[in-house]
Amino acid sequence: MDTPVMPSEKTGPNADTDSFSIRNIGIIGAGQMGNGIAHVAALSDYGVLINDLTSEAFEKAMLTISHNLDRQVAKDLISEADKKKALARIAFADSFAAFKDCDLVIEAAVEDEGIKRSIFAGLCAHLKPEAIIATNTSSISVTRLAAVTDRPDRFIGMHFMNPVPLMELVELIRGIATEDETFELSRTFVHSLGKTTAVSEDFPAFIVNRILLPMINEAVYTLYEGVGTVESIDKAMKLGANHPMGPLELADFIGLDTCLSVMQVLYEGLADSKYRPCPLLVKYVEAGWLGRKTKRGFYDYRGDVPVPTR
Ligand code: NAD
Repeated sequence: MDTPVMPSEKTGPNADTDSFSIRNIGIIGAGQMGNGIAHVAALSDYGVLINDLTSEAFEKAMLTISHNLDRQVAKDLISEADKKKALARIAFADSFAAFKDCDLVIEAAVEDEGIKRSIFAGLCAHLKPEAIIATNTSSISVTRLAAVTDRPDRFIGMHFMNPVPLMELVELIRGIATEDETFELSRTFVHSLGKTTAVSEDFPAFIVNRILLPMINEAVYTLYEGVGTVESIDKAMKLGANHPMGPLELADFIGLDTCLSVMQVLYEGLADSKYRPCPLLVKYVEAGWLGRKTKRGFYDYRGDVPVPTR
């Protein structure tokens, strides 16, 4: 873990203001992004409720958060007491009804437009009218998702990077109807987590993934066409382009299902053949080899050291 994320006196949940402010947040999806967002929000004094399909997913997320907080304690970035307080601020929401007092709900479920739409359709009736809804989508139109809700004016794209506790950037994406107040409250919230924002227009995959995912897809084509092995492609980009991770290692880290979904959104949204998802990426996803989260992707993670699968 890198830098500690501590509450901001001015903008944190204890900020002394009469107007609407964000104190309690709800998170939908307890996967790698949901647990990371919960981690940084709880360390910054927000009350956090996490919803997922099962309580097992929540329990797994709590183990991950606890383990990642331990790493911060070991590096003296936070105290044992900070860790305990943060964990105590996070609870399971077994239904959206538990979000009734939330000021902000961040959706971080799988990158599937149908699933996200059904989540938003079911969520709104349970929220107070002034609550803001944010989506952590990597690629899907914020305007289109907002249109499913009863509050497109209080809806925004809040795109955290993986791993959330370490990565400084959050992209903010306004839908066509997002009001200035929603944008400002969201920006203040992100800053209170100790993070920096970059603003992107609402186009497929926004800024970071518009550039990053075609690079990863090209690395999979390079493998598919036999230009290099998994090992040589990753080594070439690490040592030849000074990337901290090779593109195939990074794809496994992101999740191959998420990589494929982003490429499909780019391909369909921009109608340009240069974004065609590599058939080999499709094959890995069809096999259920989704990368680190399923222990197999371009590398096999079941042993002590990752072993290339091609
Ligand atoms: P993940 O597969 O690790 O987790 C997704 C979670 O959503 C799972 O726990 C799943 O059970 C849950 N879920 C699925 N349907 C649900 C529903 N109807 N209600 C509640 N929970 C549900 O995925 P992730 O990597 O955490 O990605 C989540 C979102 O964040 C996606 O939109 C993804 O594009 C985006 N994102 C991912 C990354 C990355 O590097 N992985 C980075 C930025 C943004």
